[in-house]
Amino acid sequence: AQHTLLYVEDNPANLKLVEQLIARRPEMRLLTATDGISGIRLARERLPKVILMDINLPGISGIDAMRILREDAATAHIPVLAISANAMPTDIKRGMDAGFFRYLTKPIKVAEFTDALNLALAHADRHTNIAEH
Ligand code: MN
Repeated sequence: AQHTLLYVEDNPANLKLVEQLIARRPEMRLLTATDGISGIRLARERLPKVILMDINLPGISGIDAMRILREDAATAHIPVLAISANAMPTDIKRGMDAGFFRYLTKPIKVAEFTDALNLALAHADRHTNIAEH
């Protein structure tokens, strides 16, 4: 079974890095969107297992996109990882209060990203099992 990660990001260098990291994992498929509205649309259409959401996006912010995903029963259960260059404790608290599964700071650290992704995938599996029983 393939696991889909949706990455919503407007920065080409970060998109390229995550593409390279996901390419090493044959069980994973990557979908990308470069703004929040397209990201929400793709999330609704494809129901990815995990979402990685940039906070600073053109148009609506990653936090607003996260709120919209949480309010939609179809996407409310999907673990969403935040990724942001804003690393102040108040930024991180605002992100966690919005309901993100983890808050990662840029630049992307490979080990931190991999750990957070694996935890989110395991969380999504547990949720699926509960829903099926
Ligand atoms: Mn950005």
